[in-house]
Amino acid sequence: MASLDKHAPIYVAGHRGMVGSAIVRALKSAGHDNLLLKTSKELDLRDQKAVMAFLAQAQPRHVYLAAAKVGGIHANNTLRGDFLYDNLIMQANVIEGSRRAGVEKLLFLGSSCIYPKHAPQPMREDALLTGELEPTNEPYAIAKIAGLKMCDAYRHQHGCNFISAMPTNLYGPGDNYHPEHSHVLPAMIRRFHEAKVEGAKEVVCWGTGTPKREFLHVDDLAQACLFLMGQHNAAGWVNVGTGADLSIQDLALLVAQTVGYEGTVSWDHSRPDGTPRKLLDVSLMSELGWNASISLKEGMVEVYEEFKKSLEMETMRG
Ligand code: GDP
Repeated sequence: MASLDKHAPIYVAGHRGMVGSAIVRALKSAGHDNLLLKTSKELDLRDQKAVMAFLAQAQPRHVYLAAAKVGGIHANNTLRGDFLYDNLIMQANVIEGSRRAGVEKLLFLGSSCIYPKHAPQPMREDALLTGELEPTNEPYAIAKIAGLKMCDAYRHQHGCNFISAMPTNLYGPGDNYHPEHSHVLPAMIRRFHEAKVEGAKEVVCWGTGTPKREFLHVDDLAQACLFLMGQHNAAGWVNVGTGADLSIQDLALLVAQTVGYEGTVSWDHSRPDGTPRKLLDVSLMSELGWNASISLKEGMVEVYEEFKKSLEMETMRG
């Protein structure tokens, strides 16, 4: 594919979120200067008419569909209706609106939770729909599966060049630090930091600590998205991860070390563990020519600095 004109209009849906803002940073640093950005106040992506009108008028050449309702295991498990409705309707509106507006290429972002709870590890793209989903995030996963299938169906029926990327668990600047609704990594950074400041002797984490997770820095994901937008034009979906995971217990140790917390860690078994493991097989992405480059250790140091800055500036989300 020819390299894209730097002045071509590009719409990043969800540019205020952690993923969307990382994509905007990556596009800007690659020299793209015609980014179309709308806050959810300016454009409610659940409003079909408004989305159709915006895309018809704005005529983006490329669309990054990073808008989504996201959250950690507790938010997914309790706000089940919202996770299904909001995600289904937002993605359906943007995908259909992009087709109507004649968008040249769209990238849809999914999640590694689309794969069955007991899929063979690491999980290959062809594990999709081969077994039961993890119940705690089933509504979110069902919406994401619908989104990637919609991209494929539009390619098949309408010839749209709509592609999908499936990132693993993400972390990075602009994350949500809500004590209940966040993902594990930001939740632990906040809890361990507060324990250190308060001089607490114990920090309580959720579940048993035995599940394993893979963590990808969102700036790596953004680079992967630009890479795929530039050169991948095929049906199906591509896993984006680091290819390595660690136990939640080991994650807690790494967070404690990064933050400088010296007390003990205990585990609240009344909280759900979620899926035992969800390591992505990243060989397809690797064959295409892309690999992650930010290690969890260095990424976490950077994120902790950003977290402290956001506390100081009172800009922390959550
Ligand atoms: P998941 O990957 O969809 O399960 O999402 P999370 O990032 O929310 O949780 C990952 C794992 O971390 C689960 O096994 C949780 O039980 C565990 N965990 C431990 N402490 C926490 C915490 O404070 N918050 C969250 N969200 N998860 C935690």
